[in-house]
Order: sequence, then C-alpha cells, then structure tokens
Amino acid sequence: MNLILLGPPGAGKGTQAQMIVDRYHLPQISTGDILRAAVKEGTSLGKQAKTFMDRGQLVPDEVVIGIIDERLRASDCKTGFILDGFPRTNPQAEAFQAILTKIGKSVDHVINIEVDPEELVRRLTGRRTCNNCGGMFHILFHPPKKEGVCDRCGGTLYQREDDGEETIRTRLKEYEKQTAPLIQYYQNKKLLRSIWGVGGQNQIFEQIIRVLDAKPV
Ligand code: AMP
Repeated sequence: MNLILLGPPGAGKGTQAQMIVDRYHLPQISTGDILRAAVKEGTSLGKQAKTFMDRGQLVPDEVVIGIIDERLRASDCKTGFILDGFPRTNPQAEAFQAILTKIGKSVDHVINIEVDPEELVRRLTGRRTCNNCGGMFHILFHPPKKEGVCDRCGGTLYQREDDGEETIRTRLKEYEKQTAPLIQYYQNKKLLRSIWGVGGQNQIFEQIIRVLDAKPV
C-alpha cells in the first residue's frame, strides 16, 4: 500500500504516520525528518537545506525529489510506504509521478488532514519532539508525564527550531501557496480522501483506518 499524507504543518501527519507504521508495518518517509537529520550531521545536503528550513521556506524541489528518488528504491519500500511531507509542490508531484512510473508503482490513497489555521499555530508553538525516538508531545494537549522527558524512551524533548511563531506563519503561507493546490491535483486523480484532523489522535486514526481498510468496490 502506497500512501501520501497531505495537510498543513501541525495537522498531525507525523503522529498519524507513526500510528500507520505500527498498524500496517509500512515505512514512514518524512522529507522533514530526513532533512533535519542531514542538518544535524552537517552533510552538504544539510548545509544546503538549513537556510530554507530556518526561514520556514521550502527546500528547492530538485533537492527533495533527489531524496525521494533514492529512498523509494530501498528494500523496505517493496511492500509500500507512507509519504509524510512530500510532495509539497506541483513540480514535486509531477516528478514523483514520473519516479513511480519508472519503478512500476502507483499511489493507492492520498489522505488530506484538514485543520483550522489558528488551531495549527496553537499546536505548533506547543509541540515538543523526543531527540532520541522522535516521539511527539504537546505541552497542553499531550504533555509528557515528566516535563521535558519522553514517556516512551526517557529521551530529552526539544522544540523544533522552525516552531517559533513567526517561522510558523511563513510555513503556513508556504503551505497555502505551494502545497494546498495539490488537494485539487489529487482530487482530479480520484485519489484524495479528506478527513477532519481535530479531536483525539485515536479518533483521527479511526477515520484513516476506515479509508485504508475499505474494500475496493
Ligand atoms: P516538516 O517536518 O515536514 O514540517 O518539514 C520541515 C521543513 O523541511 C519544511 O519547512 C521545509 O523547509 C523542509 N521540507 C520538508 N519537506 C519538504 C518538501 N517536500 N519540499 C520542500 N521542503 C521540504
């Protein structure tokens, strides 16, 4: 099963992708995670991406397309994958289609998670991530048992550099301008399923399960 999770920053794509991984055993491919790891390691990819990421802007298309082209050839993608944060522009979607055709695959579902913009700002400013296992928390909506410490592995929780309020507003504008048109793009291909990304994580996940487990008619 090959999936794309679409939705603005803060919609909960990462959290839902982790839940899909647990239930369906598909690899999660997050271009944001791959880029952040490259920045942390100080590779040339990381250096190239950092300036854009710090400003809340999108990294150039050819950079992320290269990442995906390589990643999809890995053996763990044989039975499927979950794309979280890619594609994010029209050229990325077109290039992705060409890559899939080349490797003989196609997309099964595009799940679009919808959330009100002001809610997104609230969510993103309170978001905390574990530096060890990537677990996600929120200081108000999903606080860890002990402040600053991951419930799952005891790792240290940190705030992403691009989760400051001004950068968040830039990221949301980038989303509206560059990524939101993909909703129509995938609607035209009859692959889009929109769900409402508000409520508990499990409630949102139930909606995703309904989409993924529905038998084709
Ligand atoms: P995310 O973790 O998905 O919110 O991504 C964090 C940042 O990484 C974004 O604000 C962009 O700077 C960059 N990024 C991640 N995925 C992409 C993509 N598909 N295209 C361009 N930039 C991306």
